[in-house]
Amino acid sequence: MNLCPRCHIALDLIEVDGERVLMCQRCEGVMLRKLDHMMELSEEQLRQSPANETLFADHPHVDLTPVAACPVCRQPMRRYIYSTDSGVAVDACATGHGIWLDDGELAKIYDYVHGYGAAPGATRQEKVTEVLRGYGRKSN
Ligand SMILES: [Zn+2]
Ligand SMILES: [Zn+2]
Repeated sequence: MNLCPRCHIALDLIEVDGERVLMCQRCEGVMLRKLDHMMELSEEQLRQSPANETLFADHPHVDLTPVAACPVCRQPMRRYIYSTDSGVAVDACATGHGIWLDDGELAKIYDYVHGYGAAPGATRQEKVTEVLRGYGRKSN
């Protein structure tokens, strides 16, 4: 059984475009084997996938203080800032089981990777982007 590193309840197995993803129904965090795969999907694909719930940071009351344990091997994961300057802290398994993203972090990284922050006036799929960016911004 794969346990949520935050809630310590069993994670559900969902599928996003053929990729198996572990997701917590309580805190809506996800364990991804490969982040790159998610970044290659269109916004529409992401929104229409079972991972849709994790795009919106609507479960803010997660205690991030304890070190997260990998849902697969139970070893402590290491925290780092994705791509150094994205501002998004992610937890990664040291032995390669993947990375854990808390609720809303997938959308933040997606935004970062696709550079939406750099062009606020852009009209490209404006509405979809707006939805993806609908997460609350952290005040730190
Ligand atoms: Zn959880
Ligand atoms: Zn692991």
